[in-house]
Amino acid sequence: MSNTDFALAVEDLTVSFDGFKAIDNLTLYVDKDELRVIIGPNGAGKTTLLDLICGRTQASGGSIKFKNEEMTKLPEYARVRKGIGRKFQTPSIYENLSVFQNLEVSFPRGRSVFGALFFRCDDEVRERIESVAREIGLADHLPSQAGLLSHGQKQWLEIGMLLMQEPQLLMLDEPIAGMSPRERELTADLLRRISRNRSVIVIEHDMDFVAQIAHKVTVMHQGKILAEGPMEKVQRDPKVIDVYLGH
Ligand code: ADP
Ligand code: MG
Repeated sequence: MSNTDFALAVEDLTVSFDGFKAIDNLTLYVDKDELRVIIGPNGAGKTTLLDLICGRTQASGGSIKFKNEEMTKLPEYARVRKGIGRKFQTPSIYENLSVFQNLEVSFPRGRSVFGALFFRCDDEVRERIESVAREIGLADHLPSQAGLLSHGQKQWLEIGMLLMQEPQLLMLDEPIAGMSPRERELTADLLRRISRNRSVIVIEHDMDFVAQIAHKVTVMHQGKILAEGPMEKVQRDPKVIDVYLGH
């Protein structure tokens, strides 16, 4: 496979905070339609890596290519337009709006270049809202006030808000934290479904959940990649057991 076939090619990426390298010369490739899980101890640099890919943090060195296009110097909003979506740990939904309205304001055409919202709702937007609502299991909750949803449903709504923009790369930081076992199961199904036609990167600690969803696992430690491969292989790696799984 040539480099141009990867959805995401991160090469020699480095970021320093006051001389401390939170990401240290890291190289990572993610395939089209791949669901990659990143694991590793606290402070390994997992969240920082996603911050760099989405443009929240600027790299000190190296390159981030998305669909073979250099992203490293682009601001965050430009990367969103190129198809990079990022879900943060705390949900950022509009609690006072309905589920329908939350999805509606996330439709890309719903926002002018000046950032003003058009509350336009033609058939195309409505169809997309309904299809995303089915995808995230909230089709029966479209009129509900978002603030009244369960914790898990709020997380799914936020994933839905990202899906409205049809990202080709979706990144999620610890998406099942605080979820019930049933919500975790449904989230695993959801992530498997949405990775059928886009690349997904998930940071997660729960190894049962990782085993359910991961195509490949990347283990990070001290800003570097410690191991990478199928779950079964990574789990048996003595280096991984030593720094992470053994604890
Ligand atoms: P993880 O998500 O794997 O737990 P993080 O990416 O949050 O790790 O953090 C990696 C390291 O970088 C930690 O030591 C953290 O304290 C440091 N770090 C992260 N962001 C900043 C920042 N903006 N300024 C200074 N240090 C930071
Ligand atoms: Mg983190």
